[in-house]
Amino acid sequence: MILMKNIIREGNDILRKESSDVKIPLSNEDKTTILEMLGYLFNSQNDAKAKELGLRPGVGLAAPQIGINKKIFTILANDLEGKTWLLAVINPNIIKKSKEIVYLPGGEGCLSVDRETCGITPRHKQITVEADLYNVQTGKTEHKKFSLNDYIAIVFQHEYDHLFGTLFVDTIMDEDKAKKSGMKPLWEE
Ligand code: ZN
Repeated sequence: MILMKNIIREGNDILRKESSDVKIPLSNEDKTTILEMLGYLFNSQNDAKAKELGLRPGVGLAAPQIGINKKIFTILANDLEGKTWLLAVINPNIIKKSKEIVYLPGGEGCLSVDRETCGITPRHKQITVEADLYNVQTGKTEHKKFSLNDYIAIVFQHEYDHLFGTLFVDTIMDEDKAKKSGMKPLWEE
């Protein structure tokens, strides 16, 4: 089980390395890693479990954050329409990005960043992605091309950045400045 003590924090070089491609079909070890990462997200979003285990809630977790420099990340998040997205993403490539830039009002957070941060992180409103997706129900991996918008696109870009050694704090900027330059908040606060 992944706990907060297993999460690599800002300042550790592991978070700054580019991760390696993962061999498909996935090894049993990689499958186990994916299930453990999703397990963290599930537990962290369950109030009782999170309290019991001392977990910070998360909607995404990338393998480097648990000390594994492989191109794998998981997402468990609800979009603005209330649809739940469960994604286990392997070897992703963002192949198209919208010109329109959006941001999460109030800024992003990260399980690897403990300090208070001030500012927003600019993200593309829409992205088109190619990746291998691991289906936890069938145990199979499928190569897919798909587009994401808004909140899930933001979460995806945050996790994707982890695979290349980038943290959300690297591109953080003042929210007023962002607004003035035409970037849009995902919702008005
Ligand atoms: Zn993060």
